[in-house]
Amino acid sequence: MPAATATATAVAAEPSVCAPLPVLGRDVAVPLVTGGEVTYAALDQAASAPALQRVWDDVAAYAPYYGSVHRGAGYLSQLSTDLFENARRTVAEFLDCRDGDEVVFTRSTTDSLNLLAAALPDGCEVFVFETEHHAALLPWRRAGRVTFLDAPDSPAQAVAALERALADRDPYGPALVCVTGASNVTGELWPVRELAAAAHAHGARIVLDAAQLAPHRAVSVRELDVDWVAFSGHKLYAPFGSGVLAGRADWLREAEPYLAGGGASRTVVRRADGGVDVRWHETAARHEAGSPNVIGAYAVASACKALTEAGFEALAAREDALVCAVREGLADVPEVRFLSLFGDDAPRVGVLSFVVDGWNSSHFAAALSAEYGIGVRDGLFCAHPLVRRLLGGDTGGAGECGAPEPGALNAIRVSFGAGTPEEH
Ligand code: PLP
Repeated sequence: MPAATATATAVAAEPSVCAPLPVLGRDVAVPLVTGGEVTYAALDQAASAPALQRVWDDVAAYAPYYGSVHRGAGYLSQLSTDLFENARRTVAEFLDCRDGDEVVFTRSTTDSLNLLAAALPDGCEVFVFETEHHAALLPWRRAGRVTFLDAPDSPAQAVAALERALADRDPYGPALVCVTGASNVTGELWPVRELAAAAHAHGARIVLDAAQLAPHRAVSVRELDVDWVAFSGHKLYAPFGSGVLAGRADWLREAEPYLAGGGASRTVVRRADGGVDVRWHETAARHEAGSPNVIGAYAVASACKALTEAGFEALAAREDALVCAVREGLADVPEVRFLSLFGDDAPRVGVLSFVVDGWNSSHFAAALSAEYGIGVRDGLFCAHPLVRRLLGGDTGGAGECGAPEPGALNAIRVSFGAGTPEEH
């Protein structure tokens, strides 16, 4: 009996691995330089992921009913407004938001974090690790002061470094910590809950860059106790131009609208002196001026439902298997060196970066594409300080995001998504 119980427990504890979710583009054939064609292997899902078939079907079913949002009495306008507002509720459920949290539809994570940066209270200090994607590293120029923290060697060191930095700040002023949930370079998971606890213990708030986390793991605003979350639809299998900023309403409500225009304004009146007085909306609409992207928002909501139904445990178990397969496949190649901050065995999402000694990474990536039809990312992944640190060298004057100068030191990244089949 005890033995049987132990077996039953062991079986129950094993996370089930799901089949890849149906996505668009699975059968796309691409030409090879050697002649012939091969089915494209999209191993660059961390940059942008193809639409889930379900998202595509939902969008196609809605498209004939497309109408203006918040701007019409007609049936299709009403329907579109309902879908848009329902999408907000679906995203709030997906993120397990608190009562009273706002969900603002943006264009992307970059847009979401810039929106929050524009809404910082006067004198707000910002704390950010140098390891962040540029979208999380750079928007804070309006802040009273920005403290860039050195790359930590372990999750515990990250928490300790943040604690130390926060202990030195003005305890009465507003402060914000910005942290990623999963690195777009190493895929490693960051100790978000612990960092949030450290931030709050010192009276600071925290925003989670979930661009790489949300497609791979359940994100609960309540459990992680983060103040805001940002993510991109196009990394969540909903590439229709929408992103999300969700979280505390107060800073957003008190801030000037991110964009000024229709939709954000409740009333506009001409003053006797010839000027104009505006009353802005207080809710998410305050930061959604202009005609909103209802198809994008609807697609994001559809993806949220599809991923929730598939189950993040099963999706993560599939990705773990794919990560192991890549590591095992390359284990016998001594020239391959994986990049990591917290160690090769640290928990991660389906994102792996490496260099091949003796090879220029850009040439290597180009060869994978030309000779095998495998699409990977090469470069510095819009995280120049982190990649520089991990490579321990001079990048030789890298160019724009994703476009390093020829010959620059850079890396190769493979990344998987919910639709990546094992044979890739
Ligand atoms: N944060 C992380 C961790 C990312 O990986 C990315 C994109 O790669 C971004 C932010 C920016 O996302 P987007 O380009 O959709 O604004």
